[in-house]
Amino acid sequence: MQLPREVIVGKGTLNRVPEVVRRLGLRGKALVIAGSKSYELAGKTVCRFLEQAELKVDVLQIKTMAEKDLITIEQQIMATKPQVLFGVGGGTIIDAAKISSCSQNIPFISIPTTVSHDGIASPLASIKGSDKPYSILAQAPLAIIADTEVIAQAPWRFMISGCGDVISKFTAVKDWKLAHIENNEYYGGYAASLALMSAKLVTQNAELIVYRQDEGLRVLLEALISCGVAMSIAGSSRPCSGSEHLFSHALDMVKSNHSMHGEQCGVGAILTAYLYRANWQDIKKTLKQLGAPTTATELGVEDSDLVKALELAPKIRPERYTILHKLNLNTEACEKTAKATGIID
Ligand SMILES: [Zn+2]
Repeated sequence: MQLPREVIVGKGTLNRVPEVVRRLGLRGKALVIAGSKSYELAGKTVCRFLEQAELKVDVLQIKTMAEKDLITIEQQIMATKPQVLFGVGGGTIIDAAKISSCSQNIPFISIPTTVSHDGIASPLASIKGSDKPYSILAQAPLAIIADTEVIAQAPWRFMISGCGDVISKFTAVKDWKLAHIENNEYYGGYAASLALMSAKLVTQNAELIVYRQDEGLRVLLEALISCGVAMSIAGSSRPCSGSEHLFSHALDMVKSNHSMHGEQCGVGAILTAYLYRANWQDIKKTLKQLGAPTTATELGVEDSDLVKALELAPKIRPERYTILHKLNLNTEACEKTAKATGIID
């Protein structure tokens, strides 16, 4: 079980970088990876604080995260031998930091500038364009420093996506339990409770989040970090990723570049909560309240593509048993589900 040693969330927390570096006993060289925007927004400041903490800092700005970008980062690590890697940016940058630091056997520190999904604290990462459209196990961050002043500058849609990702744990946990009961899969009650509690907290505080208060953002951040910790405890994405995530991955395969991960997972959770005969109406209500998509049109996809994705979802990961594997729905049943929940007309 790998858990972060330091989690610092709040306004202006970037200035605590030197203190964290000292407490963790980091010396020598550090490599900072960031996107061009995130470098301007936070990366520069992080570098300044690292130099104050007497670390020698190298910076690598990356644009995308295809396999070739990972190779560039790994080559830089091999060439300059930093003691620690800092990932400053959104999900893509954090994932790149996670994978490359893990493969090169050095720790990484997560400094998120957006909160669009739970990858900011989790040990899992996804590689775009790889043969696995879902996340793979890498390593958990040694520390997470989340500055709400920085994150609040990201477009509102990122926050909505983060909320959708957290709310989707309602069905992820149901799928995990189902796999335990029917397939004797390992189930960890503590990790499951942590994921579920995060979903409940975001639901209860939806109003606070909508008003874009610092306090609301803190709730969301703490929920996303707790989800990451839940995955670290479980040693897999099980507590945080079930049928609704498979639906989101399937939608990416059916039609790419339409909406964000958490937005799709939120809609996925409405669909699969319906299949569980659970309270899908409440999930839909909360997503609506947050301004998140709750229909195919709002997701920017055709009704037929949404139905196709629901049917394809269980085939992406046959080994990850969920309600979709159990029910093995045909096209007609998928359409009926999407209609009954008002996701398609
Ligand atoms: Zn997710």
